Amino acid sequence: MKRAITLFLFCAFCLPVVAQDRTASFDSDKMRERVKVLSSDNFEGRGPGTEGGKKAAQYIADQLMASGIKPANRGSYFQNVSLVGLKAEPNTVLTIGSNSFKFGDDFVAATGAQSAKVSVDADLVFVGYGINASQYKWNDYKGNPADYRGKVLLMMVNDPPATKAEPNLFGGKALTYYGRWTYKYEEAARRGAAGVILIHTTDSAGYGWNVVRTSNGSWRYEIARTPNDKTPFLKLKAWATNGAAMKMLQAANLNLDDLRKEANSRNFKPVATGLKVRLDLNSDLKHLESPNVVGTVEGSDANLKNEYVVFSAHWDHLGVGEPDVRGDRIYNGAYDNASGVAAILGIAAVLAKTPLKQRPKRSFLFLFPTAEEQGLLGAEYYSHHPLVPLAKTAADINIDGVNFFGKISNFMPLGAERSTMMTSLAKAAAERNLKITADSKPEQGFFFRSDHFPFAKVGVPSINLQHGDTFIVPLKGEAAEFFKDYTAKFYHQPSDEYKDWWDMSAMIQEAEFALAVGVNIADAPVMPHYKPGDEFAAADKKRSKR
Ligand SMILES: [Zn+2]
Repeated sequence: MKRAITLFLFCAFCLPVVAQDRTASFDSDKMRERVKVLSSDNFEGRGPGTEGGKKAAQYIADQLMASGIKPANRGSYFQNVSLVGLKAEPNTVLTIGSNSFKFGDDFVAATGAQSAKVSVDADLVFVGYGINASQYKWNDYKGNPADYRGKVLLMMVNDPPATKAEPNLFGGKALTYYGRWTYKYEEAARRGAAGVILIHTTDSAGYGWNVVRTSNGSWRYEIARTPNDKTPFLKLKAWATNGAAMKMLQAANLNLDDLRKEANSRNFKPVATGLKVRLDLNSDLKHLESPNVVGTVEGSDANLKNEYVVFSAHWDHLGVGEPDVRGDRIYNGAYDNASGVAAILGIAAVLAKTPLKQRPKRSFLFLFPTAEEQGLLGAEYYSHHPLVPLAKTAADINIDGVNFFGKISNFMPLGAERSTMMTSLAKAAAERNLKITADSKPEQGFFFRSDHFPFAKVGVPSINLQHGDTFIVPLKGEAAEFFKDYTAKFYHQPSDEYKDWWDMSAMIQEAEFALAVGVNIADAPVMPHYKPGDEFAAADKKRSKR
């Protein structure tokens, strides 16, 4: 009896909500054409600041206009992002105490000063994990602020391991943001440090020294600082091999393994090594401009239309680079992420052609960020220069790589469990007989590696909608090969190319599901929020008060 009453009450609120399958509204030929055009050699791998990149951004804007989607930046489809590129001189020498270290073999370094010449002459302090996380009652920055200001901080990557007594300490097996090297730099900069040296081990970083060496030995990009930008930055951002770090500390009669053990406890206290770090870092420097592309479709409710559901997919890729074995130098980025752009253009078109009265209540913002491959820079810029207030931004659904292999029965929305967005996701999945799968490799921290993440950092619930791997018809031939060998043979390679066998019904399945999730969020009585205790709940509270 009680149950019947509950059901009745529940349905009194949900009466107008009818599951709607919009598969037929998607234009399959258009979707194919857009992937094909965006990933064609003509667009030269869509590098930010290149001719190909400009063409790609213009193409997306033209497609938005042709589909009746309005510009979202005061009459423009573009939000310009100024970037600075820096490439460190490879003969740079790092001197610590009486030891000197070799660039590439022992350490790599970049500057956050956006300047061609920087000099560092500072004390070296070991700060364990370099974490300050009130939710875990953990603070490695004990003592006086002067102990860190102007110093170079030597620290470990990853987060402290869980214990028997605290199995959920720092997410247990999962990597929390406190374990990411980006966090370590940000926290040290907030403390006024001159620099950071991260100690690399393959285990703690999740990748070998070769990856650190390659990515720091080439051009690194940052959002250009404006003259009145007060965001703190580090003069020195460096990594050292485990061997080099041991050698540094030995000179101060300190043992890295012992320090590591101490740093696994809350009682750890930073260690002033008494050593001096000296370095003259010269870099090549260049400035470039590249836009985020932005469009909007209005919602139907007089009040709720002032709140927005964001769909995002980065348009950029790696441009032209080193040739592969076939002599191909164009990094087409078909799966990564021409496919995501095509899916979101499709979603935008479906919403735009829906008559206003039949549209979802909240409005939609379509964001195609630039420079994702350089470190989520376009999305990061957007999150600090939002075109609609963050307090009115309901959620971000990001797509980075759409399933074109064949239809599937599961999706893996990274980050869904963190917020009440899960309700909207679970409903859309259940109506489509789809399963929601949890992140299969939480220790790798994929949640922190695509454009939905800058939204999380400023407190907006966000997901990266990854497709699953349970194909309804087992894959064969080239599709099976591409799927199985993606990481080894196609990821960030010139071979990530469009082929005519791509299955548009699979892409539309994904786009339609993403749209359904977005519609559920747009029609929900309240906007989603991070769950209490989540590492982004505090940022959510802060932006909601604005
Ligand atoms: Zn991507």
